[in-house]
Amino acid sequence: MLDDVKHIVLVLSGKGGVGKSTVSTQLALTLKENGYKVGLLDIDLCGPSVPYILNLEEQNVHQGPDGWIPVYMDNDQKLGVMSIGFLLNSRNDAVVWRGPKKTSMIKQFLEDVCWQDVDYLIIDTPPGTSDEHITVMENLRKFPQCGAILVTTPQQVAIEDVRKEITFCRKTGIKIFGIVENMSGYECPNCSECTNIFSSGGGQSLAEISKIPFFGSVPIDPRVGKLAGQGLAAIKELPDSITSKVFSNLVRRL
Ligand code: ADP
Repeated sequence: MLDDVKHIVLVLSGKGGVGKSTVSTQLALTLKENGYKVGLLDIDLCGPSVPYILNLEEQNVHQGPDGWIPVYMDNDQKLGVMSIGFLLNSRNDAVVWRGPKKTSMIKQFLEDVCWQDVDYLIIDTPPGTSDEHITVMENLRKFPQCGAILVTTPQQVAIEDVRKEITFCRKTGIKIFGIVENMSGYECPNCSECTNIFSSGGGQSLAEISKIPFFGSVPIDPRVGKLAGQGLAAIKELPDSITSKVFSNLVRRL
């Protein structure tokens, strides 16, 4: 079923909490707003946050004759979502599985979801380079249309972890589309001035050193934080924000 998908985009980060799910969901929503048909697959089995961010927590996936039918955001069926969160009874349920069970669930996610005529499949992964990633890489490297976006924050400690992600992608033969730096400075909602709270430019210099495209810096913007839980696209709700410009630029360069 992945054969029909035109572009597969893995969203990876070395650490949790750097904004990987925010980037995955805003990327999916921006693509949808640009007229593409999009799939969003959340394989963060232990911390699936996509159903919450997109305000789809009450939804369930259904089994069709050819496999799982994703949950669609709207009636136009332009954005379909699949997450382990849809299979749990409650948001507080924990997935306590060892490697082999996780591996088989991810294989099912990759093989058994009916993505119909999808232009872009965005895959939100857990942080790091664990069982889930190895399974994904093993199953996806045969698809030439597959590549990864690496998300980091500007702090040196996060940048160091992205170096490991770069090594991981190179070792497993996954193309790297580019790097996004998130929480890079604070964009004041009143005057739009951006203040660099942490060090800045780390993501960009890592991209330059590693000869990887740099897709831009998303600032800390409390309004972007508030979009989580409502399933709203920054490009629509905050069209003049830096965030919206970074995602529009990203979509053009993918
Ligand atoms: P990860 O998937 O890497 O664990 P999340 O995307 O869940 O990270 O983001 C962690 C928290 O930070 C969430 O509450 C999210 O709303 C918030 N957040 C992420 N990026 C931004 C941003 N650019 N501006 C404001 N809040 C953000």
